[in-house]
Amino acid sequence: MQNHRILFLRRPTGLPVPEDFSLEAAPISSPGAGQFLARTVWLSLDPYYRNVMKGHPIYGIPLEPGEVMFGKAVAQVAESRHPDFVAGEYVLMSSGWQQWALSDGKDVEKIDPEAAPLSTALGAMGMPGLTGYAGLVYLGEPRPGQTVVVSAATGGVGTTVGQVARLMGARPVGIAGSSEKCDYAVRELGYTACINYRTGDLKAQLKEACPRGIDVYFDNVGGEVLSAVLGNLALHARIVLCGMPEVYNMAAPPPGPFLGPIIGARATVKGLVVYDWLARMPEMRRIVGEWIRDGRFQWREDITEGITNAPDAFCRLMRGENFGKALVRVAPERC
Ligand code: NAP
Repeated sequence: MQNHRILFLRRPTGLPVPEDFSLEAAPISSPGAGQFLARTVWLSLDPYYRNVMKGHPIYGIPLEPGEVMFGKAVAQVAESRHPDFVAGEYVLMSSGWQQWALSDGKDVEKIDPEAAPLSTALGAMGMPGLTGYAGLVYLGEPRPGQTVVVSAATGGVGTTVGQVARLMGARPVGIAGSSEKCDYAVRELGYTACINYRTGDLKAQLKEACPRGIDVYFDNVGGEVLSAVLGNLALHARIVLCGMPEVYNMAAPPPGPFLGPIIGARATVKGLVVYDWLARMPEMRRIVGEWIRDGRFQWREDITEGITNAPDAFCRLMRGENFGKALVRVAPERC
């Protein structure tokens, strides 16, 4: 058996392409004293990897061309010479884009496979879930009956924002990039309405869907969608700036949206960095885990099969073509 792994070859200009990566087969290493060997099961694909490829300092993740591509994964301990980990345990770790990885246990978190399906440790029960939960609850502060608008409404973060808003008694309105995504948002995730920003006049459609204005806007995309939302703010609106994937592919930010309406609406804009909210992870997992187990919380995964297809899947994510939390199934959960 060999370890198939994907190397990061070069820093992309603009949108990443599969040629920015290469596939390599290497021998599987045995763990040394104080190490364990893990079998990657689920590999997470996240938009911020594009910033890691740029060498953006905010993440503090060094990644040089020629190294195994950075990535978070759910993995299973296969062989252990580490006192705290035993074979068979599932862990959340930065294994990179490879089938097998060695670890010294640093920054590795054990996963309870009974708490929720394993893959959710990378989505609803993991970093994207915490982003949506903490950002909405503590920065957006929605009150019952208020209108919460979220863009990328069916993605990893958006799925949590919409459902937490609904379960807190607010009125979630989604914005997404296709009618299929919008149908899913309303039917499965319980959004009151969802607008496809690729068809029609977004500002006018928002006015119709949010007649009393937008109380909370959770922004996952920036750009023209943010501009359209700003034209529909309720008094004292809160805006949570979470992500702007288009910009990740650019060398310099584009000219921004017109921010004037923020003044007129006396709105509050708050920047969200999920790492500031890590102390809220147990709270999020307790609440969302209960919703998952009693069927009140839904999610969707955009699953690609096999590590060799990870580069294509990541490029698709960075073009906004994923529908649900982007994951690569590297191996079956149980072998
Ligand atoms: P995701 O929503 O599953 O995937 C990204 C989605 O963004 C796409 O499916 C697409 O959905 C939308 N999109 C719109 N314009 C795009 C463009 N130009 N390029 C690519 N995608 C575009 O991803 P996620 O992991 O849940 O993350 C959502 C946002 O939160 C991202 O911006 C991410 O960087 C950010 N984030 C921020 C933090 C933080 O600490 N601030 C933490 C985690 C994630 P539609 O087709 O529906 O538009």
